[in-house]
Amino acid sequence: MPLPEAPSPAKISALRVELEALRAELEAEFRGSGTELGSDRPGLELIGPEKPSELRRLSVDFFDYSPVLVPLLQGHLAQLVARVFSVAQVRAVAGACARHGVPLTCRGSGTGNYGQCVPLAGGVVLDLSGLNQLRSLDATSGVIEVEAGCLMGDLDRQLVEAGRALRLVPSTARSATIGGFIAGGSGGIGSLHWGFLRDPGNLLGLEVVTLEPEPRLLSLDAAASAPLNHAYGTNGIITALRLPTAAAVAWVQLVVGFANWEQALAAAQALPATALELQSITLLENDVALQMPWPTGCSDPNGEHRLLLLAAPASMEVLPGWLADRGGALLWQAPQGQSKGIPLRELSWNHTTLHWRTSRKGWTYLQLLLPQPEGPCLAELRRRWGASICWHLEAVKNQGAARLACLPLVKWQGETHLQQLIADCRELGAFLFNPHVLSVEDGGLGVVDANQVAAKATYDPAGLLNPGKLRGWLERNAPL
Ligand SMILES: Cc1cc2nc3c(=O)[nH]c(=O)nc-3n(C[C@H](O)[C@H](O)[C@H](O)COP(=O)(O)OP(=O)(O)OC[C@H]3O[C@@H](n4cnc5c(N)ncnc54)[C@H](O)[C@@H]3O)c2cc1C
Repeated sequence: MPLPEAPSPAKISALRVELEALRAELEAEFRGSGTELGSDRPGLELIGPEKPSELRRLSVDFFDYSPVLVPLLQGHLAQLVARVFSVAQVRAVAGACARHGVPLTCRGSGTGNYGQCVPLAGGVVLDLSGLNQLRSLDATSGVIEVEAGCLMGDLDRQLVEAGRALRLVPSTARSATIGGFIAGGSGGIGSLHWGFLRDPGNLLGLEVVTLEPEPRLLSLDAAASAPLNHAYGTNGIITALRLPTAAAVAWVQLVVGFANWEQALAAAQALPATALELQSITLLENDVALQMPWPTGCSDPNGEHRLLLLAAPASMEVLPGWLADRGGALLWQAPQGQSKGIPLRELSWNHTTLHWRTSRKGWTYLQLLLPQPEGPCLAELRRRWGASICWHLEAVKNQGAARLACLPLVKWQGETHLQQLIADCRELGAFLFNPHVLSVEDGGLGVVDANQVAAKATYDPAGLLNPGKLRGWLERNAPL
């Protein structure tokens, strides 16, 4: 798949000169205006080769979880980082990049896993973390309009004052941006109830800046926003999002121990079918539990498997007895936000991989949706792969049905082994969301989404946004 060449240093210098002139113009234009784009926002920041360590830091994400991706992504660096604080600044940078033919890759907090924000063709990295205001919260509907660079942790703190909360957050909610979650994430805490980000209803609209010589600022409804949802910022720069929220719940964090794996799995399978209100169900096999940090006051594991739950206070009258009847012992509980040490949210989803790899660098992971019933597939994978896989399951809703997703830890034994494991998972009926590939399509359903490609043609006609990540764009002129 051919990539555009990185722009020459001379081209980047010319772009920088133009951006510096635009910065002065923007400041003069908005000084004292007191508007949303006004003087209370900091000026456009530019970071160039004079700060090589900053360029390196702002050109990577967490792709090092994949030994397959590391050699493909190492060394791809931004030539210039533009840190923006207003929509006017985003438009200025987008227009200048389009006029100079320079690639532009959006960045929120850079917590993605697949090199999603690594600038494969160099050029500009647009850091949107300074564009971070909650613009509005509709008191009746709970719908919010929020700027793309707002950290989800900060957003939730503002929402809770109004009795609302984000429906879905990744386990990185404390450090990741809402724009990066929609552009690069898929689901997480809350997926048990709300499914995945791309499920209709989870995204109501986007404000988008196009990559054109005279960039347009568009307000897209839910249908028009769908092709930009999980497109890695390849087909539009998201400046703000309209999202539904849920009623805030004071979730109780629970750690439950099971001596027996089958009983623990049966509990994780059965809980979603109860009327108990839960926000997440995470199941860690005993070997995995042993490697995790635990909240202050929670005992260290002693060989048991651990089920981690976020439960509504009203569920607490029934839940401990329900779990005890199924072999589970309540080991620890504390209200979310009030415990010390690691919060339970950060022992779920890909945080398990993060903690595991602190002591076992030579391990990687997979992301699967297990077939139903889950037991036979898990048992057969255990039989074939033994101790080179350790199990971590998450309960989710997929297309309206309760399912178990799974982020197993996998001992890295080379690419041939990994491909064989992937083939085994598929043969046994699991659906793979491959974290060892670069393109939007290959990490998802494997097929080109014509609407994503059409959106790119409309909003990024020169193909400058995050080059190399949308396979459908690279293949669009390939002979049939
Ligand atoms: C330990 C760990 C745990 C994780 N857990 C989860 C999880 O539970 N669920 C989950 O879905 N993900 C998870 N992730 C992945 C990632 O943290 C989330 O998807 C996160 O929301 C990404 O936000 P970010 O601000 O870091 O985005 P970035 O990594 O900065 O960007 C992600 C993608 O979005 C694009 N982008 C960013 N901002 C914009 C914008 N304004 N306009 C257009 N494109 C944009 C970037 O170009 C990139 O392609 C995890 C990662 C780690 C390392």
